[in-house]
Amino acid sequence: MIVITSNTIGDNRVQELVQFIEKQGAEAHVSRGEGRTVIGIIGQVGSKLADQLRQMKGVEQVVKISKSYKMASREFHPADTIIRIKGVEIGSENLVVMGGPCAVETPEQIDEIARLVKAAGGQVLRGGAFKPRTGPYSFQGVGVEGLEMMAEAGRKHGLLTITEVMTPEYVDICAEHADILQVGTRNMQNFDLLRKLGTIQTPVLLKRGFSATYDEFLNAAEYILAGGNPNVMLCERGIRTFETYTRNTLDLAAIPVLQSLSHLPVISDPSHGTGRRELVEPMAKASVAAGANGLIIEMHTDPDNSMTGDGVQSLFPDQFANLLVDLEKLAPICGKKFDTPKQPVMA
Ligand code: PEP
Ligand code: MN
Repeated sequence: MIVITSNTIGDNRVQELVQFIEKQGAEAHVSRGEGRTVIGIIGQVGSKLADQLRQMKGVEQVVKISKSYKMASREFHPADTIIRIKGVEIGSENLVVMGGPCAVETPEQIDEIARLVKAAGGQVLRGGAFKPRTGPYSFQGVGVEGLEMMAEAGRKHGLLTITEVMTPEYVDICAEHADILQVGTRNMQNFDLLRKLGTIQTPVLLKRGFSATYDEFLNAAEYILAGGNPNVMLCERGIRTFETYTRNTLDLAAIPVLQSLSHLPVISDPSHGTGRRELVEPMAKASVAAGANGLIIEMHTDPDNSMTGDGVQSLFPDQFANLLVDLEKLAPICGKKFDTPKQPVMA
């Protein structure tokens, strides 16, 4: 249920309404929009509370949210969520580019790729230390040492870092080393992991399960939000369809659909979304045109010898840099801001 207040209401009255709601045993979440304030109510609330609130001063409307997710919904929180990390905004008009290898391999590898991501204008370094591989005999990541390598490279080159966390036990150590925690497609409904991520404040990039509907995706986000962590971004990374030419089918419509259903930032992953290097650039641009708040892109200095099979979808450094130059031109047409550094990139 949400309470829409009249636009003349002051902060004190909002606080009184919150106290009233909490006295009835429900949770109140205040969301200040452009004109008016919305109070979202979570808990077992009956129609009596709705009727009481409707009579109260400063209340314009009381609306029941019929969707199964509440805190992730646009009704509950009309304004876009903007996640701010060390001066980088995600969810505003700022376009965020996250780039890096599928997996952290060695300190030299991640250091060199971080340098190239920064030189091209990326703001976030990506790289998995723990890899969720489909087969048990495939390379599983270098583990905790990889977290340290990434953190060092991020610090040295002035980049935020994002890495995947696969189990609740590793959430704390991953959060100590990385600025953003990624939940992979295979773990979108790992509810213990989602619950654990709700207990911290580190931003989470939640990838869409490859067979998940929007509703299931937003309910997965709801687990993290309901646990108390408001810093969630959604990532469209392709879904499984009958088509086998591409690794997945990047669902571009998901970007505007999720932005209409939810206030959370939406990031697109054209690398896993296509599985083919030559499709990353057009799908990255299409994602920005569709309104994505950011991109997460695999880039490798030696993709043919990358330790995961994702070399085939990894851009070469010069392709990554050229793409970002084009994004700088495209962004303003799409209502976004993106700047590349003006010195040449040494690949
Ligand atoms: C990745 O980002 O390297 C990854 C494994 O992604 P996904 O979970 O989307 O497959
Ligand atoms: Mn990958």
